[in-house]
Amino acid sequence: MPELPEVETIKNELTPHIIGRRVTGVALCWEGIVRKPSVEEFRSRLIGQRITGLGRRGKYLIFSLSSGKALIIHLKMTGSLLLSPATDVPNKFTRAILHLGNNCHLYFRDPRKFGAMWLVEDVDSVVRKLGPEPLEENFTPQILSERLVKRKTPIKALLFDQGFIAGIGNMYADEAIFSAGIHPLRSGESLSQEEIARLHRAIQQVLWSAIGNKGASVDTYFRPGGELGTAHFEFRVAHGLGGKFCPVCGTPIERILVRSRGTYFCPKCQPIK
Ligand SMILES: [Zn+2]
Repeated sequence: MPELPEVETIKNELTPHIIGRRVTGVALCWEGIVRKPSVEEFRSRLIGQRITGLGRRGKYLIFSLSSGKALIIHLKMTGSLLLSPATDVPNKFTRAILHLGNNCHLYFRDPRKFGAMWLVEDVDSVVRKLGPEPLEENFTPQILSERLVKRKTPIKALLFDQGFIAGIGNMYADEAIFSAGIHPLRSGESLSQEEIARLHRAIQQVLWSAIGNKGASVDTYFRPGGELGTAHFEFRVAHGLGGKFCPVCGTPIERILVRSRGTYFCPKCQPIK
């Protein structure tokens, strides 16, 4: 599933190609991808609009439009946005196409059909419940510490809870807690101030590094030009891609389920205490 670094990469790589362009047509190959408003209104209110900005909040992409409204896209499990793909013919996984003039088209491909689009006046109506952005300046160790108070939930589950912190999913949660040396089942409230500081640093390092590598192409993630990201080559535990043994101490990596998500960790570097 695309997480913050993948969505940030898509935002960065789409921006120079789409800002200032006008939506000249909207093709919906699968109408269920539109969550709000009705399909008819979505199409009529989008056509003719100029794209004035592209932002990200958590795993949501937010296209600002000249009408003052915003087009919001969530890629969920398997979505990708491809810019004027070489094979311009929609394939069976193409759910929507935005025509942007001058032979520029944005294809929303989504094999599993969990992806979604909204056209709204109030962006907050979609993203209101998200927790803090982990790469913004106001996300400090102090803020993280305050959010962990009285939280009995395992730290791994808190990290992929979008209301606790925005943008992190299964992969980067595993990488961050491995880097911080914290067992995935430790409760939020049990972390010491030193561990919280380590976790804060690890979250930011893991995310920045993955953005530098243009995201992780596990599953179906593609960059808008169709290229792959390379962040998964640096995974130390996530998805079992780091190998069978801990890259730090050589202990066999273990896999457990945390709230039904496959979780990889090193029992020696991440002791339960
Ligand atoms: Zn280890």
